[in-house]
Amino acid sequence: MSDCIFCKIVEGKIPSTKVFENNQVIAFKDLHPLAAKHFLFIHKSHTKDIVQMMDSDPGQIKDIYQSISQFVKDEGMNEEGFRVVTNLGAHAGQTVFHTHFHVLGGETLGRFGK
Ligand code: 5GP
Ligand code: ZN
Repeated sequence: MSDCIFCKIVEGKIPSTKVFENNQVIAFKDLHPLAAKHFLFIHKSHTKDIVQMMDSDPGQIKDIYQSISQFVKDEGMNEEGFRVVTNLGAHAGQTVFHTHFHVLGGETLGRFGK
Protein backbone atom coordinates (compact mmCIF):
# COMPACT_ATOMS: atom_id res chain seq x y z
CA MET A 1 0.00 0.00 0.00
CA SER A 2 1.56 3.25 -1.16
CA ASP A 3 0.67 5.47 1.80
CA CYS A 4 1.41 2.91 4.53
CA ILE A 5 4.52 3.62 6.61
CA PHE A 6 5.07 -0.05 7.49
CA CYS A 7 4.85 -1.05 3.80
CA LYS A 8 7.51 1.62 3.20
CA ILE A 9 9.65 0.01 5.91
CA VAL A 10 9.19 -3.38 4.15
CA GLU A 11 10.27 -1.77 0.87
CA GLY A 12 13.25 -0.06 2.53
CA LYS A 13 11.89 3.42 1.67
CA ILE A 14 11.78 4.39 5.37
CA PRO A 15 14.73 3.42 7.58
CA SER A 16 14.24 1.05 10.49
CA THR A 17 16.38 -1.01 12.82
CA LYS A 18 15.58 -4.51 11.61
CA VAL A 19 15.99 -7.35 14.08
CA PHE A 20 14.46 -10.24 12.11
CA GLU A 21 13.50 -11.01 8.51
CA ASN A 22 12.37 -14.00 6.47
CA ASN A 23 10.36 -14.30 3.24
CA GLN A 24 7.05 -13.42 4.89
CA VAL A 25 7.81 -11.34 8.00
CA ILE A 26 10.03 -8.54 9.20
CA ALA A 27 10.58 -7.18 12.71
CA PHE A 28 12.16 -3.91 13.75
CA LYS A 29 12.63 -1.78 16.86
CA ASP A 30 9.70 0.45 17.81
CA LEU A 31 10.57 4.13 17.30
CA HIS A 32 9.13 5.01 20.74
CA PRO A 33 9.88 2.01 22.95
CA LEU A 34 7.56 1.35 25.87
CA ALA A 35 9.82 -1.30 27.44
CA ALA A 36 13.54 -2.09 27.56
CA LYS A 37 12.95 -4.33 24.54
CA HIS A 38 10.15 -3.31 22.16
CA PHE A 39 9.91 -4.79 18.68
CA LEU A 40 7.22 -4.73 16.01
CA PHE A 41 6.54 -7.87 13.93
CA ILE A 42 4.67 -7.38 10.66
CA HIS A 43 3.71 -9.51 7.69
CA LYS A 44 5.10 -8.25 4.39
CA SER A 45 1.57 -8.44 2.90
CA HIS A 46 -0.49 -5.41 3.86
CA THR A 47 -3.65 -5.79 5.93
CA LYS A 48 -5.02 -3.02 8.13
CA ASP A 49 -5.71 -5.03 11.27
CA ILE A 50 -5.88 -8.52 12.72
CA VAL A 51 -9.51 -9.06 11.61
CA GLN A 52 -8.71 -8.21 7.98
CA MET A 53 -5.62 -10.44 8.24
CA MET A 54 -7.73 -13.40 9.42
CA ASP A 55 -10.39 -12.74 6.76
CA SER A 56 -7.84 -12.57 3.93
CA ASP A 57 -5.20 -15.17 4.88
CA PRO A 58 -5.31 -16.81 8.32
CA GLY A 59 -1.99 -18.54 7.62
CA GLN A 60 -0.28 -15.19 8.19
CA ILE A 61 -0.78 -15.51 11.94
CA LYS A 62 1.32 -18.69 11.82
CA ASP A 63 4.04 -16.88 9.88
CA ILE A 64 4.05 -14.15 12.53
CA TYR A 65 4.13 -16.44 15.59
CA GLN A 66 6.74 -18.73 14.06
CA SER A 67 8.91 -15.66 13.51
CA ILE A 68 8.33 -14.39 17.04
CA SER A 69 9.14 -17.83 18.47
CA GLN A 70 12.38 -18.10 16.52
CA PHE A 71 13.37 -14.55 17.45
CA VAL A 72 12.69 -14.81 21.20
CA LYS A 73 14.68 -18.05 21.38
CA ASP A 74 17.64 -16.36 19.67
CA GLU A 75 17.29 -13.34 22.02
CA GLY A 76 16.81 -15.43 25.19
CA MET A 77 13.51 -13.63 25.70
CA ASN A 78 11.61 -16.90 25.95
CA GLU A 79 13.46 -17.52 29.23
CA GLU A 80 13.14 -13.93 30.52
CA GLY A 81 9.47 -13.62 29.52
CA PHE A 82 7.79 -11.22 27.14
CA ARG A 83 4.39 -9.97 25.99
CA VAL A 84 2.75 -9.83 22.54
CA VAL A 85 0.15 -7.08 21.97
CA THR A 86 -1.96 -6.19 18.95
CA ASN A 87 -4.11 -3.07 19.03
CA LEU A 88 -7.20 -2.79 16.81
CA GLY A 89 -9.10 0.44 16.32
CA ALA A 90 -9.91 3.45 18.46
CA HIS A 91 -10.58 1.83 21.85
CA ALA A 92 -7.21 0.07 21.75
CA GLY A 93 -5.41 3.13 20.35
CA GLN A 94 -4.23 1.68 17.05
CA THR A 95 -2.21 4.37 15.27
CA VAL A 96 -0.63 2.48 12.35
CA PHE A 97 -3.04 0.63 10.09
CA HIS A 98 -0.77 -2.19 8.93
CA THR A 99 -1.32 -5.17 11.23
CA HIS A 100 1.51 -5.37 13.74
CA PHE A 101 2.45 -7.32 16.83
CA HIS A 102 4.26 -5.53 19.63
CA VAL A 103 6.80 -7.78 21.37
CA LEU A 104 7.66 -6.24 24.73
CA GLY A 105 10.15 -7.40 27.33
CA GLY A 106 13.64 -6.93 28.66
CA GLU A 107 12.27 -6.01 32.09
CA THR A 108 9.30 -6.79 34.34
CA LEU A 109 6.23 -5.27 32.70
CA GLY A 110 3.30 -3.60 34.45
CA ARG A 111 -0.14 -5.13 34.21
CA PHE A 112 -2.25 -3.85 31.34
CA GLY A 113 -5.84 -2.77 30.88
CA LYS A 114 -7.48 0.60 31.45
P1 5GP B 1 -0.08 1.04 17.52
O1 5GP B 1 -0.27 2.29 18.34
O2 5GP B 1 -0.77 1.20 16.18
O3 5GP B 1 -0.46 -0.22 18.23
O4 5GP B 1 1.48 0.92 17.30
C1 5GP B 1 2.19 1.63 16.34
C2 5GP B 1 3.61 1.66 16.81
O5 5GP B 1 4.41 2.02 15.71
C3 5GP B 1 3.89 2.69 17.91
O6 5GP B 1 4.40 2.01 19.05
C4 5GP B 1 4.91 3.64 17.28
O7 5GP B 1 5.91 4.05 18.18
C5 5GP B 1 5.48 2.82 16.15
N1 5GP B 1 5.90 3.59 14.99
C6 5GP B 1 5.19 4.54 14.33
N2 5GP B 1 5.87 5.00 13.26
C7 5GP B 1 7.04 4.30 13.25
C8 5GP B 1 8.17 4.33 12.36
O8 5GP B 1 8.25 5.06 11.38
N3 5GP B 1 9.20 3.49 12.66
C9 5GP B 1 9.15 2.63 13.75
N4 5GP B 1 10.22 1.84 13.95
N5 5GP B 1 8.09 2.58 14.58
C10 5GP B 1 7.05 3.41 14.33
ZN1 ZN C 1 1.12 -1.61 4.91
